[in-house]
Amino acid sequence: MAVTIPPLERSDFLTGQPLVDGTEICGDSTYAITNPATGEALANVAKLGAAQTYRAIESNSRAFIDWRKRHAQERARLLHDWLALVRLHRQDLGLLMTAEQGKPLAEALGEVDYAASFIQWFAEEARRVYGEVIPGSADRRIIVIRQPVGVAGAITPWNFPAAMITRKVAPALAAGCTVTLKPSELTPLTAFALAKLALEAGIPPGVFNVVCGDAPAIGSVLTSHPDVTKFTFTGSTAVGKLLTAQCATTLKRVSMELGGNAPLLVFDDADLDQAVEGTIASKFRNTGQTCVCANRILVQGGIHDRFVEALAARVSAFTVGNGLEGATDQGPLITRAAFDKVQGHVADAIAQGGGIVTGGKRHGAGELFFQPTVLTGANPAMRLADEETFGPVAPVFRFDTEAEALALANATRSGLAAYAFTRDIDRAWRVAEGLETGMVGMNNGIVSTETAPFGGIKESGLGREGSRHGIDEFLEMKTINLGVRS
Ligand code: ADP
Repeated sequence: MAVTIPPLERSDFLTGQPLVDGTEICGDSTYAITNPATGEALANVAKLGAAQTYRAIESNSRAFIDWRKRHAQERARLLHDWLALVRLHRQDLGLLMTAEQGKPLAEALGEVDYAASFIQWFAEEARRVYGEVIPGSADRRIIVIRQPVGVAGAITPWNFPAAMITRKVAPALAAGCTVTLKPSELTPLTAFALAKLALEAGIPPGVFNVVCGDAPAIGSVLTSHPDVTKFTFTGSTAVGKLLTAQCATTLKRVSMELGGNAPLLVFDDADLDQAVEGTIASKFRNTGQTCVCANRILVQGGIHDRFVEALAARVSAFTVGNGLEGATDQGPLITRAAFDKVQGHVADAIAQGGGIVTGGKRHGAGELFFQPTVLTGANPAMRLADEETFGPVAPVFRFDTEAEALALANATRSGLAAYAFTRDIDRAWRVAEGLETGMVGMNNGIVSTETAPFGGIKESGLGREGSRHGIDEFLEMKTINLGVRS
């Protein structure tokens, strides 16, 4: 098989397979993982289904008996050991991720660090699962303890093949839960490598399993098995709703990180350079393929033309290409369907009166590459106003008043992230409070960090990941009402 990536120190990462109960397992068939930059096959991986998922959950249930009883200090130590191995193999994990997902190597290495930050954070939080003592009555004392919710099922997407995994698995393990994870079928190699490193760090077999293959079959077991008490998902809103409904029959605890349709507001009083920098950071990270990417850029009349000119100058200077070669800023889109959607959004915008300032077509670097694009004259009737483009297209809408901007920004069923740029402190507060989203980047194009709660409102999700709240998703409260004789 032609593998066009530099040799890995851990060459076994390229032949990785699903891991259940500490053992790599096979399915009845295999399928190929391809590099989206070149279309070349990277590896063949086992295609698993319901039977192997049942096995994985059984092993989670067995492992849970011991894992939940381990002292938090010991679970923290094992997570720290896992963290050390992830850091040790940073370069290999970055290369693997660029090869299977397409993001430029610098971004992939940044993601390894970001993924590691969740392991570190939750290794620390493992020891801070505090309870409560509530004043009772003369003959009663009330104590609340927090315990692991049990076996967790997790499904993650392809756009962050490492960080979306550690953001779920690290808090689950820290809390004392065991996990079966199904990563995206497009990017499982990073997931297999992470699970292998966890095992090498001494995390016991069965605590962290990875299955992959037939997504609906695996998903239906993870969402219906009575021994799975928690289900956590990151992906599209449509699939999130389906899986939430599937979880209802056994009433699982559910966390959902779903799609966004992030507005980015630039007011006349913004610092132009800061607004352009923030827009680049938010819109073009991972070639526009993140759920917090600015999807609608709303710019006030007085700064509109200067902003568009400065943004287009930056965007047209991007280096587009294979993320493993040179100083690439923008990689390929993940699949043909993703490419077609981006192209379709641009064609629809042009048909509805939008104007291309830069880009707008397939890029010469290959089949799945789209030119970084800025378009003006965007309006709410366009498809891109309502659907996530998930690609390197920055559509600029024009507005006049703050009230109009907020109304436009909130005219969506999504509510994940929003951004605003203004130097007016009163406006900053008003706008931050008025935006209907779980996160706001104010004069800042980046909202994701392990230290802050990440999550959405409206149809963008349920629950929060990261921060001191992230571990709560894997804990139940138990009230102990103690009778005391005087
Ligand atoms: P995206 O559009 O970002 O690929 P999806 O929601 O389709 O988002 O995919 C996110 C994750 O959900 C992936 O791991 C994918 O395999 C999984 N998935 C998609 N459809 C289903 C399904 N019917 N049941 C279980 N998992 C699914």
